Amino acid sequence: QRKIVYVPKAQYGGRHTVTMLPGGGIGSELMNYVREIFRYCGVPVDFEIIDIDPNSETNDDLEYAITSIKRNGVGIKGNIETKSEQTGIISRNVAIRNELDLFVSVVNCKSYPGVRSHHQNVDLVVIRQNTEGEYAMLEHESVKGVVESMKIITEEASERLSRYAFEFARRNGRKKVTTIHKANIMKLSDGCFLETSRKVAKDYPDIKHNDMIIDNTCMQLVSNPQQFDVLLTTNLYGSITSNVICGLIGGAGLLSGRNYGDHYAVFEPGTRNTGSTIAGKNIANPFAMLNAAVDMLNHLGHTQHANAIADAMYETIVTDKIHTADLGGTASSTDCIQNILKHLDGKNISW
Ligand code: ADP
Ligand code: MG
Repeated sequence: QRKIVYVPKAQYGGRHTVTMLPGGGIGSELMNYVREIFRYCGVPVDFEIIDIDPNSETNDDLEYAITSIKRNGVGIKGNIETKSEQTGIISRNVAIRNELDLFVSVVNCKSYPGVRSHHQNVDLVVIRQNTEGEYAMLEHESVKGVVESMKIITEEASERLSRYAFEFARRNGRKKVTTIHKANIMKLSDGCFLETSRKVAKDYPDIKHNDMIIDNTCMQLVSNPQQFDVLLTTNLYGSITSNVICGLIGGAGLLSGRNYGDHYAVFEPGTRNTGSTIAGKNIANPFAMLNAAVDMLNHLGHTQHANAIADAMYETIVTDKIHTADLGGTASSTDCIQNILKHLDGKNISW
């Protein structure tokens, strides 16, 4: 089977180098946990750590970070803040996705049993267009008090994304893809997205296809999320739906998101939060970033290490019920990490 995304070859000794962008807020403490756990179980990954100064008036740090990901093929990141009001300094998170052509974002939303949440037994995947739509950042004030903002939907990007979604469904034993849109109002833009997904669906008769308006989707997600399998959607709706689902099954601290293009892959927490208000207090839930790290290891083919870490995380949250405050628990971030390390202790991991 052809890999959808290029995976870099390991260097001498089976090691990979990965670009690490800690970002603002809780980013750097979470990355320290990732590094601690990787060191502990001898993960053959070296990090190239790049801090991007949120107050910088230039894009030098950003360009350096993008060059590094291009060289390494893989990155792991926290949310990068952009404080500059200077025009021409755009969201650096969006810039990274656009520059690397990371056209798809994938968020696996699977409940952890026994975690405080509004719904149990959710297992769905959000596949989101990641480079166009409302995030084109083409806004201007045409006349004082009148702002125009362009939402770009292309047939080419819609087709590429739809194909990714159906291939994903097929490879992962998923049964149904639902296109989420607002084509009843945005007849041309969302209409193009919907029609393109219908065309692509014809090539995948083994996968069921239907569609749902975004408003109804939010209501259906809140009342009966178990009805969904794979959600295929545009950029902004994807951000909203994945945040709704994360909220339903445990919040911002739990799930990871993967960004893929044809050449590069970048891993991050699923809701892309900064967590500035909880930084430095040892209360952030480390799971979302650790899940991103596990995704990254799976991508690189270090599956034994990925499985060992994922198992230790599962034991910690499901069996031992070590939960941080966001999940209603009393554990600190470091309590979680110590418990994960305890489960990794003595495991013989080879590659
Ligand atoms: P802020 O930047 O104001 O901290 P965010 O938008 O980054 O807010 O995050 C939204 C909410 O999710 C905040 O209440 C934040 O504390 C919470 N949150 C984000 N990440 C985590 C995490 N890893 N653990 C616990 N709570 C988190
Ligand atoms: Mg925020």
